[in-house]
Amino acid sequence: MRFDEKEFGKRLRSVFDMNSLGAMLTDDAIEKFTELTDILLTENEKYNLTAIKEPDKIILNHYADCAALAAVLPRGASIADIGCGAGFPSLPIAILRKDIDILGVDSTAKRIAYVNMAAERLSLANIKAITARAEDLGRSERRESFDIVTARAVAAMRVLCELCLPLVKQGGQMIAMKGKNAESELAEAKSGIGILGGKLREVREISLTDGEELLSHPLIIIDKQKKTPAAYPRPYAQISKKPL
Ligand code: SAM
Repeated sequence: MRFDEKEFGKRLRSVFDMNSLGAMLTDDAIEKFTELTDILLTENEKYNLTAIKEPDKIILNHYADCAALAAVLPRGASIADIGCGAGFPSLPIAILRKDIDILGVDSTAKRIAYVNMAAERLSLANIKAITARAEDLGRSERRESFDIVTARAVAAMRVLCELCLPLVKQGGQMIAMKGKNAESELAEAKSGIGILGGKLREVREISLTDGEELLSHPLIIIDKQKKTPAAYPRPYAQISKKPL
């Protein structure tokens, strides 16, 4: 290990506890997050997986952040994590929520190979990752098949909704982990959300701390009320050139 495991475990426990996330954090989860951090930092030297390289900062910005989402997911949900990159939020969800089955989706094969390798090393049976473009998956047999579709830091809301909403089954939800521009992005995306069969449920502010740094940003939760019309998702060039 390239860091002190015991100190890391203590800090992880303390950060989860101070943000009321501690109930999900079993001893097994602490072991898995410790090993994941070692894998992430080792592989980060070969591939560009994360800009955050200090274990302490990884705890707040990756693990606690994704745990805040894991805490609000319904029991037994099937989830697709679009643009999962190095497995955020999918790997932390798989570690913290054994009741949930999660499919990580990314267009970059190297990142998907990393996620599958990490899942295997951590013996996580509830996560699988595939190399695919979200808009292609939305036109496959996986269309409208997931209870929840998540995405963190993938695209502006107008684009993101067309990538994600076609994959959500009626009665399910899309949950976007967004940054500072969420309100203006949401205003732009409003009519598109309706066209795609969605309705905004809630903008929920997430506020986390590790005692030194603060991390706050919104989760945008959209209900899938109606089926997505067959015309969507369109090819990516159209989605990005003429967003809904
Ligand atoms: N969600 C991860 C996180 O928060 O660390 C990764 C975020 S990274 C900035 C955005 C990821 O979205 C990239 O890995 C990229 O390959 C992926 N991506 C972008 N558009 C996509 C699409 N249409 N289908 C699948 N993956 C996509």
